[in-house]
Amino acid sequence: MFIHESTIEELKEFFLQLNEPPYRAEQLFLRIHKHLSLSVEEFTEFPKKIRNYILENHLFPVLNLNYYESVDEGSDDSGTQKFIFEYQDTKESRSRIFESVWLVSEKRRTACISSQSGCSLNCTFCATAKIPFKGNLSTWQILQQIYQMIHHRNKHVDPKEKLTNVVFMGMGEPFYNYDNVIKAAKILNHPKGLNIGSRHITISTSGVIPGIERFISEKQPFNLAISLNHPFNEERSMLMDINTKYSLSDLLKVVKKYTQIYKRNITFEYILIPDVNMNKEHINELVKIAKSIRFCKFNLIPLNTNFNNWRSPTQEEILKFQEELRNHGVLAFYRGSPGKKINAACGMLALQKGISNELKV
Ligand code: SAH
Repeated sequence: MFIHESTIEELKEFFLQLNEPPYRAEQLFLRIHKHLSLSVEEFTEFPKKIRNYILENHLFPVLNLNYYESVDEGSDDSGTQKFIFEYQDTKESRSRIFESVWLVSEKRRTACISSQSGCSLNCTFCATAKIPFKGNLSTWQILQQIYQMIHHRNKHVDPKEKLTNVVFMGMGEPFYNYDNVIKAAKILNHPKGLNIGSRHITISTSGVIPGIERFISEKQPFNLAISLNHPFNEERSMLMDINTKYSLSDLLKVVKKYTQIYKRNITFEYILIPDVNMNKEHINELVKIAKSIRFCKFNLIPLNTNFNNWRSPTQEEILKFQEELRNHGVLAFYRGSPGKKINAACGMLALQKGISNELKV
């Protein structure tokens, strides 16, 4: 076990084995998930004996912050920052590397985090698909991306800045790492941790139906987003090969079930690629889908990469597409591509360093 991915109950068990009183469990949970200590030296309320036990048994590993880069001041997405983390597992002699992004808007401070190192899916438009897949992140590796970003921001940017939202929209498919992702989300939501509201934590899936089914049957309170990306089954399969496993019509059935049970909007992410999914017939079909689901909204994301000879839509094309959906009564939002200049926007996470390549830490 690791102490930074254990629930309070699991920590009670841990202290019982050490013949320590159970109140230590909550104390340790607070130390790690509320005060965000990243070093055992900071566990000053714990006797040396316990601290040494943790150190000697390697129960509290940390990620290396390998690289970070910010969007230049003055840009409308300034405040966006990209972080690259690395973890060298001494037992397995393998290294895992993954990215996270900190996003700043008027009302929100959002951590966009990874659930896997690389991704096992093969979406044709996504840069993460082009790098080797190195496996699922453990719960502590998911959480520590956030804790380290907060440390960094509080130290270098604003000591008072507070995280408001978390999105599982970095590298990887969260529902292929279901247990670790849900455990991390629960710890983020815990009153003795960062206490991020469950409606402020969003899990985004490419459409892994068994994961969605499980999420619904467990009544998980977090927000769900679906990367829809195309309204027609065959063409969707060409963009996202997961669609050959879990078809669009089955996906839409389970989405409908979610909205009926949760009575809240599902978010559809929709990548915008001219000539591929932005024509009249696509709009008409999206309107049909929206009318049948009823509780849904669309987040429009312009294509940020340049594979397959596709191009990104112009501002005018994006706004026209949005307006057409809105004219049909469909909720459609567009929030730009924050972090595009530093390879930090949607679908760009592929461990490329941005403009300058020097190691900054
Ligand atoms: N695997 C999960 C989590 C990743 S979220 C999922 O698919 O939902 C990343 C989001 O970025 C997805 O909605 C995806 O469709 C979008 N995306 C991927 N590549 C992109 C690109 N090149 N341009 C714009 N958006 C992209």
